[in-house]
Amino acid sequence: MFCRNCGKELIGNPDMCMSCGAKPLSGTSFCKACGGTTNPLSEICVKCGARISKVENNVSPKSRLAITLLSFFLGFLGIHRFYLGRIVSGIFMILTLGGLGVWELVDFIIAVSGNFKDKNGLKVTNW
Ligand SMILES: [Zn+2]
Ligand SMILES: [Zn+2]
Repeated sequence: MFCRNCGKELIGNPDMCMSCGAKPLSGTSFCKACGGTTNPLSEICVKCGARISKVENNVSPKSRLAITLLSFFLGFLGIHRFYLGRIVSGIFMILTLGGLGVWELVDFIIAVSGNFKDKNGLKVTNW
């Protein structure tokens, strides 16, 4: 694959580009399949036809199973929110004891349904 940020060819599927330090799929300037330059707004590479839309980047790398279990067992401590980097709401969760259980339950339902978002606003849909 190629880094979508700087266009350098990468071996395997690394989390970080060795050349520019960015997440290889976070960029929009190059095609990940052929390394050609791409229009940031286009969904398909005009050179090779590969799909380069940002859809796959809209999913959080965090584990849905983790936040489901954490919100169920330790929801009142907001651990699942800390895990996702949502520190402030996590602290509120502790202070309110998970909204006396209601907030905790709501979070659990959202987590199970795959609609929970991490601090970057990406949905945690991968189990
Ligand atoms: Zn790069
Ligand atoms: Zn391409």
